[in-house]
Amino acid sequence: MRLNSKISLFFLAIAATLVAVLVAISLYAFRSFSIASATEHIRTAAEIVRVHLTESMINGVIDQRQQFLKRLTEVQGLKSAYVIRSPLVDQQFGKASKGEVPPDEIEQQVLQDGQPQFRVIENGDDLIFRGTIPYIASARGLPNCLHCHQVRDGDVLGAVTMTMSIAPLRQQAILTVAGIVGAVSLFVLLLFVLLRHLLRPISDTANAVEEAVHQAIEGNFKGHVNKQTGDEIGQIAFDMNRLLAFLDEGLNRIGRDVAQLTGRAPKPGENLLTATIDMVEGLTKASHFKQAIEEDEAKIEVYQRLAATLEDEFKLTEFSIYEVAHDKNEMSTLIVDGTLNAPCRWCNPHILDRPETCRARRTGHLVDGIVQPDICYAFKPPAEGGDYGYLCFPIIQSGVVGSIVQLVVKGEDKERVEAALPYINVYLREAAPVLEARRLMESLKESTLRDPMTGLNNRRFLEEYVETLVANVRRKRSHLAILMLDMDYFKMVNDTYGHDAGDSVLKAVAQIMKQAVRTSDMVIRYGGEEFLIVLQDTCGDSAFQVAENIRLAVEKLRINVGGTVLQKTISIGMADYPDDSDTFWQTVKFADVALYRAKETGRNRVVRFVPEMWTDKHEY
Ligand code: GH3
Ligand code: MG
Ligand code: MG
Repeated sequence: MRLNSKISLFFLAIAATLVAVLVAISLYAFRSFSIASATEHIRTAAEIVRVHLTESMINGVIDQRQQFLKRLTEVQGLKSAYVIRSPLVDQQFGKASKGEVPPDEIEQQVLQDGQPQFRVIENGDDLIFRGTIPYIASARGLPNCLHCHQVRDGDVLGAVTMTMSIAPLRQQAILTVAGIVGAVSLFVLLLFVLLRHLLRPISDTANAVEEAVHQAIEGNFKGHVNKQTGDEIGQIAFDMNRLLAFLDEGLNRIGRDVAQLTGRAPKPGENLLTATIDMVEGLTKASHFKQAIEEDEAKIEVYQRLAATLEDEFKLTEFSIYEVAHDKNEMSTLIVDGTLNAPCRWCNPHILDRPETCRARRTGHLVDGIVQPDICYAFKPPAEGGDYGYLCFPIIQSGVVGSIVQLVVKGEDKERVEAALPYINVYLREAAPVLEARRLMESLKESTLRDPMTGLNNRRFLEEYVETLVANVRRKRSHLAILMLDMDYFKMVNDTYGHDAGDSVLKAVAQIMKQAVRTSDMVIRYGGEEFLIVLQDTCGDSAFQVAENIRLAVEKLRINVGGTVLQKTISIGMADYPDDSDTFWQTVKFADVALYRAKETGRNRVVRFVPEMWTDKHEY
């Protein structure tokens, strides 16, 4: 119930109660007054009758009492008056003359106990007051009752019953009460109007505040409360408007800033407050993400964190992250559906060899395959079909597309992901510079650890990696075969055909060595035309076999330089870690010793280190 109605109802209830109580009190007062005045009147008349009857008895004219009573009723405004005698009087003077009524119940009671009785009797329209007053014998005065009556002092001699109409009194009472009720009602009405007048600004302000608050909950802070008065209520309206304006301005400012960051404009009819809260929440998470990736060491960790965010934050299970190779002519899949280095699943794999067929890579723009499903020919939905859409985001690094994040969404998820697009963009925007920095770092590091001519790792790489390598071998209790390789009479190549020819030979030999070993093995350009190979988990004959294969392949190698076909050989020394020595570098030294033995014993051969060779060390 509204405050206004509640107060009005409460007021009217009090007013009605007040009027009812007033009417009851007035009516009761009038009735008491009427009865008291009628009683007095009847008592006076009864005293007159008594005096007259006594006089009449003394004068012997008692039999004329009826005329007297008749005259009395006319003078005293009585309706009726008659006398009854007690049995004591009847005993002394005989039965009453005719015309005298026998006593009724009330009168018999009065004759018996000597107590006066009064009654109010409803008689049609009329209201009658009846009183029966006893006459008690008394021995006092001269003459007194006992002079004539043979009774004792205090006996009841008779009674007089008189009636009078009190209807006019009642009429008057009703009129008076009606007047009071009218006056009070008028007063109440005036008070009510005044109260309504005073309450109106309160209830209007309360309604307006309620409406404004309601709108604010819906995110609309444009509500206004009219200031109607200059009192506290007016102040509430004023303060409410100030608060609304403050919130509106603040929210708009936050909204503008946040929208600028996310690139997301509020939709019409959208709850600005919840939208802004959502946006700020999204930005906060993105900022945590940024902080985390900035502290990640390797590029792949950044990609993994991005994949985890896609899964946890955006509830995406199907996506690919591609990386464009440094020379830009190749792409590779880094993460597919959360799995590291998985094969290409959501695109035709030819994009990996021909990156220009990847639309996001080529254009550097978001490819929205939800809005335009046929936009990219390379997208490959599953063979079994299904309502698939895709979004491919290029991540720009060093001014070119460095990576591509591809999201694959189905059916009802499309709308959700489209709505989340601004937030996904924030994450990718945060990731881009970090990825760029990590890639630069990695390529820089890579360049210091790699020999640019042959593409092999250099000695520094071995120095950096050796600790991990040895720890692994110790843990697995396995072996490393160390091969030291040196081209035979290489100086001659340079001297005869020039340095470039020598370089070509070195490149070709590097290729042979790469192909002869497993990917887990290491081929190091150790010096000018000297190489070192570390074969993992290999020893004895199988290591010897690998060395022999290399030697044979080099021997068979024919290199055409300026019309001349070159043919070169290589010598290889071999040692085993930890069989030959329990330190890695000592084993390298032993392999070197074996290599010299190979040179010494005719070149183009593989020599396995034996401890005896070391005893001759002073010879070298
Ligand atoms: P040996 O069979 O005893 O090893 O004879 P060798 O001529 O190979 O002797 P040595 O190993 O001492 O000579 C190394 C030569 O390799 C010296 C240098 O001219 C050549 N060389 C070293 N690094 C390079 C390179 O990067 N490019 C070219 N073209 N030649 C190189
Ligand atoms: Mg050499
Ligand atoms: Mg040599």
